[in-house]
Amino acid sequence: MEKYEKLEKVGEGTYGKVYKAKDKATGQLVALKKTRLEMDEEGVPPTALREVSLLQLLSQSLYVVRLLSVEHVDSPSKRKAAAPAEAGGAGAGGGGDQGQGGPAAAAGGKPMLYLVFEYLDTDLKKFIDSHRKGPSPRPVPPALVQNFLYQLLKGVAHCHSHGVLHRDLKPQNLLVDKEKGILKIADLGLGRAFTVPLKSYTHEVVTLWYRAPEVLLGSSHYSIGVDMWSVGCIFAEMVRRQALFPGDSEFQQLLHIFRLLGTPTEKQWPGVTALRDWHVFPQWEPQNLARAVPSLGPDGVDLLSKMLIYDPAERISAKAALDHPFFDSLDKSQF
Ligand code: AMP
Repeated sequence: MEKYEKLEKVGEGTYGKVYKAKDKATGQLVALKKTRLEMDEEGVPPTALREVSLLQLLSQSLYVVRLLSVEHVDSPSKRKAAAPAEAGGAGAGGGGDQGQGGPAAAAGGKPMLYLVFEYLDTDLKKFIDSHRKGPSPRPVPPALVQNFLYQLLKGVAHCHSHGVLHRDLKPQNLLVDKEKGILKIADLGLGRAFTVPLKSYTHEVVTLWYRAPEVLLGSSHYSIGVDMWSVGCIFAEMVRRQALFPGDSEFQQLLHIFRLLGTPTEKQWPGVTALRDWHVFPQWEPQNLARAVPSLGPDGVDLLSKMLIYDPAERISAKAALDHPFFDSLDKSQF
């Protein structure tokens, strides 16, 4: 880690803090991210290796944040010996830097893996916020919504074609290069490949706003539809500059969805009433989706409605969405 000059904290990841840093040799800005992948006495466990390889493969897409390298961090005792200046200051006590999430905080003294990503200057949440509030509130230009959505779908299609679900797509983990107008998927959680049990992720603390109804209803067999639902919510949010379904509990999240799209029926979504967390819900009729996204034209509303289809098997795929007429006016040669 001595290769990098740590600059500032830029965000909270799922497994720890994310730091902006500079590669001392090249001057390149990078994002350093601690992983939960611990090393044991025998080195990097095979599961970790597999996950990192997958991440490397996925990050070959222009629309997925690039993984530049993977660094081992020695145990804190070794680090302190190497960098005594860092050991001073508050919180003396042996190993007392544990839990602070910085590179010196290798949990339990075990060597940890850090992922080094290319650095992008903002994320889609901050980007949308800057259009909603601040000195110059203004809509996100429709051509940019179209362009960002296309890039997002490219990235999602790439992940899905390699059998990987993201499962936590949200504006916070879509990174944006404002100058170049590029959007890239980040936070492809390690261990989220199809082959990994789904259970360990269900209790993860995450925003619920982008969560698909089948996940909220306790389905254990979800697939690419979960990401497409999130893409739909993100699409609507770029247009509205406000979340489409801002629920603050799983139950409220479902009610937000049902109030707009109508309470789902067996006819629309075969098997829905047999899902683990299905109850008798208030009965709502579907509202006109176009009214939730007033500035979006008919092609956009049609595409959005296909991303927000209740039956996950009927929901549009990323690959099919890329061919939707909403993108007819987009110059695709740039991708
Ligand atoms: P994540 O867990 O990947 O969603 O990271 C949490 C936050 O850290 C994001 O919302 C970003 O603001 C920031 N972040 C993550 N990765 C990067 C990166 N490669 N470049 C710049 N900021 C990042």
